[in-house]
Amino acid sequence: MNKKTLTYIDHFHGNVQPASWEALGLGAKYAGEGGCAALVIGEGVQELAAQAFQHGADQVFLADHPELKDFRFEPFADLISKVAREYEADVLLFPTTTRCRSLAGMAAVDLETGVLVDVTDLETSNGDFIATRPIYAGKLLAKVTCDAKPQIITTRPRAFSTPEPDPGRSGEIIEVSVDLDPEQIPTTVVDYATREGGVSLTEAGVIVSGGRGTSNSADLEPPGDLDEEEAEIWKAHQGFELIQELADVLGAAVGASRAAVDADYIPYEHQVGQTGKVVSPDLYIACGISGAIQHLAGMRTSKTIVAINKDPDAPIFNLARFGVVGDLYDILPPLIENLKQKLDK
Ligand code: FAD
Repeated sequence: MNKKTLTYIDHFHGNVQPASWEALGLGAKYAGEGGCAALVIGEGVQELAAQAFQHGADQVFLADHPELKDFRFEPFADLISKVAREYEADVLLFPTTTRCRSLAGMAAVDLETGVLVDVTDLETSNGDFIATRPIYAGKLLAKVTCDAKPQIITTRPRAFSTPEPDPGRSGEIIEVSVDLDPEQIPTTVVDYATREGGVSLTEAGVIVSGGRGTSNSADLEPPGDLDEEEAEIWKAHQGFELIQELADVLGAAVGASRAAVDADYIPYEHQVGQTGKVVSPDLYIACGISGAIQHLAGMRTSKTIVAINKDPDAPIFNLARFGVVGDLYDILPPLIENLKQKLDK
């Protein structure tokens, strides 16, 4: 297939979202003779152009300007549309990150085309792309295409492989002229604040998740001065400590069900599911999670799913590759010890 592909490299102050390289890998795969281009926007981001070449780009459009130091939708979307139009891209690719969901929509309006969002698989038919994307909380997979050009595609993080970077690869840098009138940009970034306990679930290769079952231990005795609700949360915290310990041994991120988040066992940024994060790790370990459809919507594309649950009829076992029927408080401690020994931790 010889398509002119253009991939937007999403980054925060020079730290690239790894899913950008997955999208660029697809761009390179389908470009053939057409040419695989990447677009980098920011200030002092020449280094990202070098990384884009290593990951498969033949050309990099570089918009480097002090006004582009902070990400803002208006100038970034304008530049993406401008470059896509001038380059006459057949396909415009983005990783499905929070920023890029909006950017892709804005570029589609500018370019009078549509967006194939959160794509997990891509095939071609008569020179057009047919994209697969999960719908109805992942219960169905829809095959969608878009007749208008360019076809805009956002790829689900970790659904596609990252090409092995080739340090010897380079290509052509095309400077994009940036002519911005600050008065015309309604948004100003005033400040950034680091949020405590930030977790990068979408990029994690391994996730250990906990659900309402973490609060259900027959043996734990909470301190006597706690009321019923406080005692339940206290128990759940002991469960999540085990989950964190297992995650530490495996170098994993910690996820959670909405029931666990709603009950204040763990903050919202850990929530996996329809109204939380959508993840596709190599390994997902669900502890005390029943497997409601809204939870499965966020993790069903995980490569290998392990479920630990007391109830042999829990729906999560229908999806899990490996199921352990038992109390997580009995299963996790020896599992952690065993892994520590095996992994020399
Ligand atoms: P439960 O369903 O209560 O399951 C707890 C499980 O733990 C049970 O299977 C039980 O057998 C097991 N268990 C109990 N004790 C132990 C023990 N000691 N050891 C091992 N196993 C034990 N949910 C999400 O997760 N993510 C979402 O994004 C989300 N979005 C939603 C959006 C909407 C619009 C709605 C209506 C719901 C949404 N939900 C979401 C909620 C979802 O429907 C479920 O209520 C929720 O996922 C249940 O969480 P859970 O599995 O932890 O709890």
